Amino acid sequence: MKVEEKLYHNRFVVDAGRPHVKVKPHDMPSEALLALTRICPAGCYALNDKGQVEVTPDGCMECGTCRIVCADTGDIEWNYPRGGFGILFKFG
Ligand code: SF4
Repeated sequence: MKVEEKLYHNRFVVDAGRPHVKVKPHDMPSEALLALTRICPAGCYALNDKGQVEVTPDGCMECGTCRIVCADTGDIEWNYPRGGFGILFKFG
């Protein structure tokens, strides 16, 4: 089974208006931020048309990779979702 097929079995409960991951405002992204557009396994990070990194954490798997990569740079704010929200693994 491919990774994409396994990920399809996950479910997410979105905490609308309260994202648990935020990118701090910036004009030019740091190398760490740019790396997130390539390494996030859920594809939550992307460049906008201004060349800034944005995050859409609705599909976040809470792996913590971005948190570790940006631990020294402070480029993001990362918290676990509130209880009852976030990822639910292995449906099916
Ligand atoms: Fe992506 Fe993992 Fe960070 Fe969630 S915790 S946004 S899945 S790198």
